[in-house]
Amino acid sequence: MSSGTRLLLIGPPGAGKGTQAVELSSAFGVPAISTGDIFRHNVKNETELGLKAKAFMDAGDNVPDSLTNDLITDRLENPDCAGGFLLDGYPRTPDQVRHLDDFLANHNAALDVVVQLVADPDVVVERLRLRAIDQGRSDDDESVVRHRLDVYQEQTAPLIDIFTARGAVVAIDGIGEITEVTGRIMAALAERGITAA
Ligand code: AMP
Repeated sequence: MSSGTRLLLIGPPGAGKGTQAVELSSAFGVPAISTGDIFRHNVKNETELGLKAKAFMDAGDNVPDSLTNDLITDRLENPDCAGGFLLDGYPRTPDQVRHLDDFLANHNAALDVVVQLVADPDVVVERLRLRAIDQGRSDDDESVVRHRLDVYQEQTAPLIDIFTARGAVVAIDGIGEITEVTGRIMAALAERGITAA
């Protein structure tokens, strides 16, 4: 598993990770892997994993690391990830970073870059309020949104320091038109020598 581009998107809920993941995935020709989407799919289909994850998701809490790490191992071992991948919403905790590090080391691979999408909390709360109307996601209810932002600050924001210490982070202003934000990301990646094939 040593060829291809391996990207990670990190940022608060509502920063536009999912939207940018679609754009970057098509630009780089790698699968976009969203643990949130995989969990939602499992909840919808009432799988064993979905039944275990649902209460955490509805409350806006992280699903336990053990479940999430197993899920991502499974997904990354799929042959479509052999030529690179883009992770959206994983890792979210220090334990998940350790798991991903071990996985990559065992597969003789490394992350190329961590893209941090920066967005003001007031802006993301408003974006998620609109998404709640548009998509009806149960965890976009306002009080759950506020809790998800707290969980992000407490458990996920510290990961940015870990990746910054490794020199892996590019911070991108996530506010603006979709194409504008994608352009900023592509330019920052090109500066680091990471270009779409
Ligand atoms: P997202 O679509 O990334 O906002 O994720 C929606 C929900 O799925 C989160 O609020 C968590 O309950 C769960 N989830 C997604 N990714 C993870 C993860 N890496 N670790 C733990 N829980 C997660």
